[in-house]
Formats: sequence, C-alpha cells, structure tokens
Amino acid sequence: MLKIERDILGKNNARAAENRAWLRARGIFALNLVSSPGSGKTSLLVRTLQALGGRVPAAVIEGDQQTEFDAERIRATGAPALQINTGKGCHLDADMVARALPRMALADGSLLLIENVGNLVCPAAFDLGEAHKVAILSVTEGEDKPLKYPDMFAAADLMLLNKVDLLPYLRFDTARAIDYALRVNPRLRVIRSSATSGEGIDEWLAWIDAGLAAAHASARRA
Ligand code: MG
Ligand code: ZN
Repeated sequence: MLKIERDILGKNNARAAENRAWLRARGIFALNLVSSPGSGKTSLLVRTLQALGGRVPAAVIEGDQQTEFDAERIRATGAPALQINTGKGCHLDADMVARALPRMALADGSLLLIENVGNLVCPAAFDLGEAHKVAILSVTEGEDKPLKYPDMFAAADLMLLNKVDLLPYLRFDTARAIDYALRVNPRLRVIRSSATSGEGIDEWLAWIDAGLAAAHASARRA
C-alpha cells in the first residue's frame, strides 16, 4: 500500500514539475486554493476577479467532484473558467492540470487561480505545479483545523482567514486560530478576508501582484 502511494506521488511530482516549467516559461503565476468545502473559495475568487477588473489577464480552473456551478459563477465575471469534475476523486492532480493548461489559451504573464476540490487532506500531498498553495480557513469552521489537518497548513504559504465579516455573530477565537496555524507553519502569511465586506481584498491583491511580478521576472531570465 505504501509503495503504491509512493509511486502515485512520484508520478504526480514529475508531472507537476513539467507544469511548473511550462508556467514559468510563460510568466504565468499559478495559485492552488485549498480548503474545506464551504470556506467561501468561489465567492472569494469572484470578488478577486471583480477587484482585478481585467487589469491582469486571469483564468480559473475549478475542481469539483460534480457540477459546473462554480465555473459558471466565475464566467459571469467575464473571466474564462475550465471546470474539472473529478467524479469519485477527492483532489486535483498534476495530470488533470497538465491536460487543462493547453486548452485554456492562457495569455503570457497571466494569473491562474486553481480552486481545488474542498478537502483539507489529500490536496496537501498533490503538487499541481503551482507557485503557492493558499489555504482558506473560514471563521465558521473550528479554530483547531490547522492542528487537525497540519499537512495542509504546512504546505501553504498563505492562509486567508475568510468570512471575517461574520465574526460579530460567532464565538471564533481569531488569535488562537492564527496561533495554531503558525505553530504548524511559522512562515505562513495570514490575511483576514471577506468576499462580502471586501476586507483584506487589497492586501490579497498586493500579495498576488508581488507574485505576478516575480513570475514575470523569472520568465524573462529563463
Ligand atoms: Mg467552490
Ligand atoms: Zn483525494
């Protein structure tokens, strides 16, 4: 069993490295958004695309077991979205992304947002070739999620503490949630966000802009 798992992850890592090289050559900045179901990923993406307002070419890969609902919400913003339905699968893998990339007509230097299947377990192990994993933890969940699912918070470079507009109605200990996340990953950057109130969206966009600039510089060097 362990050997099968190693083989699967080894193949995935090789494919992810190809994706990363493909993206790097084109100066495309790719983010892999991971979370539990219902953390507000799609709403946050919609708000992000609206705030970008076409300033940067952006496209989305939507991973869900079934339905095209999320891709349709993204397309309503005017951004192209490709839906991958994983069926019984509970995560995106690098091969799915490799097959999607050439079909998306991505502009050089664009932003690629990959919304993974809502699942805090195996997406942590499957590199897609992204520049960063972004973990979204909403305040409607438990503060202890980073300790319960440490692999995901260790693999992420940024955590969006989402739905903060709901804090007045909840007993969610923000400081404790952040402390738990930093215990698992001391270099994790944390941004408080809300797709409803817009809190944190400017800070999140500034983080994206810095990543885009690095991706563009790295493509010029390649
Ligand atoms: Mg979604
Ligand atoms: Zn899975």
